[in-house]
Amino acid sequence: MKVFFVGAGPGDPELLTVKARRLLESTKCCIWAGSLVNPAILAILPDDADVHDSAGMNLKDIITIIRSAVERGLDVVRLHTGDPSIYGAIGEQMDALDELKIDYEIVPGVSSFQAAAAAVHAELTAPEISQTVILTRVAGRTPVPDSQALEKLAASRATLCLFLSVGQLAGITETLSRHYGPNCPAAVVYRVSWPDEIIVRGALADIAGKVTAAGITRTAMVLVGHALARPLEVASRLYASDFSHGYRKADS
Ligand code: SAH
Repeated sequence: MKVFFVGAGPGDPELLTVKARRLLESTKCCIWAGSLVNPAILAILPDDADVHDSAGMNLKDIITIIRSAVERGLDVVRLHTGDPSIYGAIGEQMDALDELKIDYEIVPGVSSFQAAAAAVHAELTAPEISQTVILTRVAGRTPVPDSQALEKLAASRATLCLFLSVGQLAGITETLSRHYGPNCPAAVVYRVSWPDEIIVRGALADIAGKVTAAGITRTAMVLVGHALARPLEVASRLYASDFSHGYRKADS
């Protein structure tokens, strides 16, 4: 018997992977993260599946359910929002399963940072502007190591994707303005791919005010970086007619 940690994607059931959908269609036991996973995805489960919302559970409760299902000969789908490897708290669940010698597999999902980039039509890695994407957050109840403080990451001027941080946007934009400049593009996407998705675009100087005006306080992805500028300040050389590479000779 096996536990499948499955990425549910950002919300839209069409953004599930084929493998996630197949597992959901046949599972008899599903533990889902009720605070973030779109309940519409539960419609895929068989009618007789045991369904547990982990929102009010602690680790012990989750492991107890998994253990009892496995003892009854059932596979378990543990459904996480986005991709399970990012702020999914799967580390401690895997440690507990290792201890109990219960087998598991991780099925990746579309993360909210990818869905947000798609929603705002962004290429996060723009040539000569940013060749690096940083996935991070600011400290909340969970601390961030000092060496990874936003101030330090900002010195790279890489494209930033901030999770779990929209509530602190005013302080974030002030810190980032010192490195990226106040005119640097920024976008905030609330509940990306859900029917009530909201996209707010602006610059570091004004995005926090716009987000407050839109009433967004949680469940939003914050994207910051010069790569978000349209049109790009520097176009990619990959499709330039005078640029040769392994698959194409330059026009002469
Ligand atoms: N594993 C998830 C992240 C979980 S942490 C993933 O890969 O996306 C929860 C944070 O993710 C939220 O605070 C928010 O910043 C972001 N998030 C998750 N779902 C989102 C959505 N549908 N729209 C915008 N942001 C989302």
